[in-house]
Amino acid sequence: MKKIYFIVNLQAGKAEMGSYLAEVLNMMTRAGLEVTVHPTQAPLDAAYMAAKASESGEYDAVWCSGGDGTLNEAMTGLMRAKHRIPLGYIPCGSVNDYARSIGIPRDILKATEMVLDGVPRRVDTGTINERCFNYIAAFGAFTDVTYETPQNVKNVIGPLAYVINAATKISDLRTFRMNVRCDGQEFEDDYIYGMITNSASVGGVLDISDFQFDDGMFEITLIKQPNSALELRDTLHFLRDIHEIGEGEQVICLRASEITIQLRESANVPWTVDGEYMRNATNVHIVNHKQAVELLVPKSANLSCFCER
Ligand SMILES: [Mg+2]
Repeated sequence: MKKIYFIVNLQAGKAEMGSYLAEVLNMMTRAGLEVTVHPTQAPLDAAYMAAKASESGEYDAVWCSGGDGTLNEAMTGLMRAKHRIPLGYIPCGSVNDYARSIGIPRDILKATEMVLDGVPRRVDTGTINERCFNYIAAFGAFTDVTYETPQNVKNVIGPLAYVINAATKISDLRTFRMNVRCDGQEFEDDYIYGMITNSASVGGVLDISDFQFDDGMFEITLIKQPNSALELRDTLHFLRDIHEIGEGEQVICLRASEITIQLRESANVPWTVDGEYMRNATNVHIVNHKQAVELLVPKSANLSCFCER
C-alpha cells in the first residue's frame, strides 16, 4: 500500500477544502493509498513538513492542497530534501496559475481523480537568490498587486482582482535602470516590469504559448519604459498573448536558464515570487533547476508542454 503525506492549507482560496477533505481522503483510500494528513499551521510549515516527509523515507509521495503559495512551499521543501519523492497537487487557491498550465482542474474532486490517475513527470523549478519558485519571479509595475490585494477581495473576484488592482497602478509607473544578463545576452535599459516564468498562464490572464515545463529554460519578458499611454496600451495588449521570442520596441522576450539582474540605482524594487512579496532583492541571480521535481501530471495534460513525452 502506497503511503502519502498530504499537506493541506485549509485557509487557501475560499477555504473550501474543509468541505471536501473527507471525500478527498475517501477517494485516496479507495484508490489504495494510506494517507497521513497535515493541516498547515503557519507560513513555511508546508515547506518544512514536505522536506521532513520526503527525507524520512517513510512515504511514496507528498501531496499538497492550497494555492500557488502552498505549492511553492511544498516544492521548496522537496528541493531541500536529500531524498526527493514525487509531488501531487490539488489546487484550491484563488488564481492557480501553475495548475491551470499543467491541466489540473479547479474542481477539487475532479483534480483528486486526475492526480490519482496522474503520471509522474519531471518539471523544472527555479531559485531566485536563495528562494525557490515554481513558475514566476517578477519585478516592477504590477508586481505589488498580489500582496496588496486583500485576501477577501481575492476570494470574491478571484483572478479579476489582479487585473482591476493593476489598472489603478498604470498612472503610477515606476522605472528601474537595470543591467540584465540572460545566458550569453546582455541588456541595459529603463524597465517598468520584468518577469521570469515557467508557465502558460500568469495572474490568470496572461497567456504564454510555446513553452515547456521541463526544458531547463525560463521565458523572460522585459517591458521598457513607455513614452506614452498609447505605447503602454500596446504593450499590455501584446502581453495577453505572447508567442514571439525576440526584441521589440517596447518588449524583450527571450529564453534562458540563468539570469542575473543588477539594479543601476539605489531603490527598493518590488519583486513577487509565485505571487508572494520578496524583500531586499536589488541584485538577483536566477537559476533554472532542470527537471528537479517529479510532479503527478494528469494523463490529459498538454504533452507539447513537455520535452520528455
Ligand atoms: Mg521552461
